[in-house]
Amino acid sequence: MSVDVAAIRAQFPIFAAQDRPFHYLDNAATGQICAAAADALLRYETTARANVKRGVYRLADAATTAFAEARAAIAAYLGAAAPDEVLLGCGATFALNLIAHALAPRLAPGDAILVSELEHHSNIVPWQMVAAARGAVVRAIPVTEEGRLDLDRLDEVLGARTRIVAVTHASNVTGAVTDVARLRAAADTVGALLVLDGAQRAPHGPVDVRALGCDAYACSAHKMFGATGAGALWVRGDLLADLPPFLGGGEMIRRVTIERTSYAPPPHRFEAGTPPIGAVLAMGAAARWLAAQDWTALAGHELRLTERLLSGLAREPRVRVIGPTGLQGRLGVVAFAVAGVHAHDVCQMLDDFGVALRGGHHCAQPLMDRFDVAATARASFAPYNDTADVDALLDGLAQTIRKLA
Ligand code: PMP
Repeated sequence: MSVDVAAIRAQFPIFAAQDRPFHYLDNAATGQICAAAADALLRYETTARANVKRGVYRLADAATTAFAEARAAIAAYLGAAAPDEVLLGCGATFALNLIAHALAPRLAPGDAILVSELEHHSNIVPWQMVAAARGAVVRAIPVTEEGRLDLDRLDEVLGARTRIVAVTHASNVTGAVTDVARLRAAADTVGALLVLDGAQRAPHGPVDVRALGCDAYACSAHKMFGATGAGALWVRGDLLADLPPFLGGGEMIRRVTIERTSYAPPPHRFEAGTPPIGAVLAMGAAARWLAAQDWTALAGHELRLTERLLSGLAREPRVRVIGPTGLQGRLGVVAFAVAGVHAHDVCQMLDDFGVALRGGHHCAQPLMDRFDVAATARASFAPYNDTADVDALLDGLAQTIRKLA
């Protein structure tokens, strides 16, 4: 099924603003904003701005309604049973810190939290923090040579004291998509909660949190073609009802006296202070845009680009791909190291060809350690990419290798 990339690009203002070749392949770091989300942000900030949840005048009431509609759109995109299961905050990092701290009181000394070797630091560090505070330990699921969770070795790390399994839905380095059903079944054998970091998976088509069977799911708007500054945490309703707040402040309370505070019900209990209103409204618009796309066609399109890139990289003897070299169970995220050339140099040289790639450890140092590399270059696809982007990368890379290696 072919995809009309020009029609998609027309919906992303960044492309019309370029005066030199522009091959944007850093979508795993941030996607470009779609016009619908940019319009929602600008409209709110310039014509409809009022704080939410508090005013009684019309402008404030309209802002509160728009905020609730954005929550509903995000909840629908994630497959939540109800909008109030979705907590709105400033991104996946915030969401993962929120769920880690809200679950912390459930941890006793000697309990274990299971992450994996391929997690983004956002899904390791918050768990280390709560583990240290509670006397719990953090263990990691090993990663296969292909850059996937090694679920055949789950028995080595999952135990009777495992209370939480927190892993990514898709890797921001290898692109591998997690076999959630298998993890859910394993977590159930010890009664552990399953938290998914959806930052990378959520931009690639609707999520069904209930079909996944997870207990919490985190994502970031800026990777989902929304604005920077917003994100969502979905938590299963009955679990959420029992969780304590993470941050204290305005709008999350029922009653405050100097001695004590009683808290509002979810979602407000978890949304202290003025939220990133414009960015949330943009996230709602982005969720509607995402939901309206033909993801069978777009997923095929992204995988065809991935295949073209992987086969081009395979022709370069100095290139080592960190991640699956096939197309099964993966997203269009491809990390690679070039023997004899630092990833930053690769990316800097490719910039001369108009190719935007990420170079570094990708906030996944344990994974870099696993593969014994300091850094990699990384290309990551979105619906607006096309074969010209891949070919510019491969051409620029070949010239870079000739010059530097
Ligand atoms: N998890 C993963 C897998 C990510 O790729 C990222 C962003 N690179 C994050 C979490 C953190 O997202 P944010 O910086 O938007 O909070």
